[in-house]
Amino acid sequence: MRKTFSYKLYRSKRNKRLHRQIGGGGAIHNHCIALHRRYYRLYKKSLSLYALQAHLAKSKKLPKYAWWKQLGAQAIQNIAARIDQGYQAFFANVKARKAGKISRRVGPPSFRKVRNAKSFTLSQTGWKLLDGNRLKIGSTIYKYAKSREIDGTIKTVTIKRDPLGDLYVYFSCILDDQPPIDRVMTGKSAGFDFGLTTYLTGSDRNEYHAPQPLKHHLKALAKANRQLASKKRGSHNLKQALRNLARVHKRVANQRQAFHWELAYTLCAQYDCIALETLHLSGMKALWGRKVSDLGFATFVGRLHYVASKTGTVVQHIGTWFPSTKLCSACGCIHQAITLRDRVWTCPDCGITHQRDHNAAVNIFREGASSHGGHLVSQASACMDG
Ligand SMILES: [Zn+2]
Repeated sequence: MRKTFSYKLYRSKRNKRLHRQIGGGGAIHNHCIALHRRYYRLYKKSLSLYALQAHLAKSKKLPKYAWWKQLGAQAIQNIAARIDQGYQAFFANVKARKAGKISRRVGPPSFRKVRNAKSFTLSQTGWKLLDGNRLKIGSTIYKYAKSREIDGTIKTVTIKRDPLGDLYVYFSCILDDQPPIDRVMTGKSAGFDFGLTTYLTGSDRNEYHAPQPLKHHLKALAKANRQLASKKRGSHNLKQALRNLARVHKRVANQRQAFHWELAYTLCAQYDCIALETLHLSGMKALWGRKVSDLGFATFVGRLHYVASKTGTVVQHIGTWFPSTKLCSACGCIHQAITLRDRVWTCPDCGITHQRDHNAAVNIFREGASSHGGHLVSQASACMDG
């Protein structure tokens, strides 16, 4: 299993070198893109990774590219490899679109502004982990906030810069075989319905509400944007205003992230098996816009899976086309007339009044249980409390 450990680097004057290396990586990225384009113009075919890497290794020796040395050979090869991945994804996308398999368009890798460059990656060489919280990159020693031990074998080391200008180090590690999880079963399982008013409604009537960090920071964001608009291009004040804006965005992201992890751990501690709908996110975004992004459903599901893999909880997904909302959980009839506005509805066939989200959660739970094999729920018992 692969796992990434991230730490924030201490601020220091020395970090200037890392910033320079990140910027240098950005310039080499642009150099590679230019090579790709020129090669295509001349030969009408794509430049192979092998040829690009060989070319870079040769150029590195030229005096005008002497400054590439500060980045190290591996970081340079990594840039070439990532651009190649970008092109492969682009070609695969063109093929798939021609075959009519997908409509989403992926563009080829393109030029970037050097000052927006974000990271560089080293693999086996160019770095050394020292005792305590020290990391040597090139000939410079940096310190990082060591919040926990690094586990497994380190495969790559990435230095990343966020929009605030803070630096982070990411160790991508391969973990040794983990012992099987010894879960203390709670004997509880549930289905959950995602919603905008109630984040999660459980088939057991548990409800979880989400904070909406973006909504609560809209005023602060508007203010930061207004201040940004009045600053002169290239001025120090503009830089400061950009940082202020990035700071608000970061706070929003941090709050959302904290809520996600907390909820994922709460759910996994409580339930042995969790059934969820497969979300149709682009459709939801079209309907409700910003709020859907603010709640970050998809990111939450990813985090839930991660925590579940650690705690031994089973997470199931019910197919996108399962009519969880329109199905009456008491008699099994499907009612097409139910709209998004109907929070509460009465089944015309059996006369039972349903709370919309709870009814959906019960259906999701039952569908999950039937496809999972275990936990069969009879229609009557699930409806007694519903
Ligand atoms: Zn009914």
